[in-house]
Amino acid sequence: MSMFMNPKQLWQAVLGELEVILSKANFTTWFKNTFISSISEDSREVIIGVPNGFTQAWLEKKYHKTILNVLQNISDNKIKKVNYVVEVIRPIARTPEVVLKKLSVAVKVAPAPATNGFGLNPRYTFDNFVVGKKNELACAACRAVVDNPGTKYNPLFIYGGVGLGKTHLLQAIGHTLLKRKGQKKKILYTSAEKFTREFIEAIRHKTPEKFKNAYRKIDILLIDDIQFIAGKKETQEEFFHTFNTLIQGNSQIVLSSDRPPKAIPALEERLKSRFGGGMIADISSPELETRMAILGVKAREKGYTLAEDIVQYIASHIQENVRELEGALNRIIAHHELADTSPSLESVKQILASFSSRGHRAMVNVRQLINTVADFYEVKLEEMAGKSRKKELVIPRQVAMFLMRQELESSFPLIGKELGGRDHTTAMHAYNKIREEMAREGRIKQEIDFIKQRLYTSP
Ligand code: ADP
Ligand code: MG
Repeated sequence: MSMFMNPKQLWQAVLGELEVILSKANFTTWFKNTFISSISEDSREVIIGVPNGFTQAWLEKKYHKTILNVLQNISDNKIKKVNYVVEVIRPIARTPEVVLKKLSVAVKVAPAPATNGFGLNPRYTFDNFVVGKKNELACAACRAVVDNPGTKYNPLFIYGGVGLGKTHLLQAIGHTLLKRKGQKKKILYTSAEKFTREFIEAIRHKTPEKFKNAYRKIDILLIDDIQFIAGKKETQEEFFHTFNTLIQGNSQIVLSSDRPPKAIPALEERLKSRFGGGMIADISSPELETRMAILGVKAREKGYTLAEDIVQYIASHIQENVRELEGALNRIIAHHELADTSPSLESVKQILASFSSRGHRAMVNVRQLINTVADFYEVKLEEMAGKSRKKELVIPRQVAMFLMRQELESSFPLIGKELGGRDHTTAMHAYNKIREEMAREGRIKQEIDFIKQRLYTSP
């Protein structure tokens, strides 16, 4: 007899964790359409179904350790072995109606080619968004945009740190407008990353006109993480024109970013001033009360209610961002579901303790970071700090510099010092170089994603 309620729930719990650990892109690329194909009688072996051989190889090579770790954590070390098989996903009991609805939304949102494959997350609505002191201005501005698109706050620029609800709000605007009766407006939610990718594709295929036309006919353009276009000259140029055309035609533009326009490095002045030309609203980390309310909403979404003291405990221990709050909740729910017990303050304390000791963002330090990078590239620590300019050493060094900056927000002088007493300009150069490489989405990006994943998951 298996201890698990069922394989589907187990996999849900695993995905819940992976979603928190991995970047969004990696998570969707590698874990979409995966499922548990079977679990052995003694619960020691799990077989995971994947959609194709490529994914199979990738999971085996790059994510096996992480998957096994997460599975073991959730199963209290019962699971010892994981295998991967190519299997097409089993049809889920879905009514045709739902499928139709989805399709019609997709068609409405999607003027070619900008929106292929895009889906709004159905949970990101205003109803599910908890308003508190730190996000009320942003939320009110988004609602005002919904009431009078293209008139009042144009563009609306929302900024704030990771996991604080920017994407949620942008999509809430999309949902609400899409549902509106008799609505004929062309609405598009996309990310700056996707905009960039599509633009580059369009140039490559010599179809820039098609690209331009698609974007310039949109009535409501919601662009997430606009800071991504920083440093990309041609994309900025193209976006500048799209932006002007839309604003002149009274189309609404909503942008999100991790920092205010003025503070985005390598963003053209004219864009900075355009972005600041409408309304700017920031979101910062929610206070305790809001965190508690958010936990309540998220628990209810998953069909749970938690006692007040438990909610308070979780909310006072996880303070920085809502995504982590949700991650903790997922973990707590999964744990109790599998053990078939109800949560107590004691059990929750224990789970959270293991959660943070497994190395969360804040817990990673410079040493661990450099070690992880050295380990990944199989270079010695002395070599990381050494003088040699051999290519096999330069890349790891630059990657470490980049990650120190990006993940730990270390200063450039400190980065230089930690890696062999180098000058701060060397650190800056390394950071910029790797950042550009990342944007190309090639090998370096994969490597860095992998390093980050090791960094945040290894015990
Ligand atoms: P960002 O885009 O700012 O990085 P997201 O919008 O992706 O953050 O939010 C991360 C998670 O936190 C999402 O699951 C989102 O639903 C949730 N979230 C953030 N803020 C709130 C809030 N005020 N109320 C409810 N859920 C929230
Ligand atoms: Mg986001």
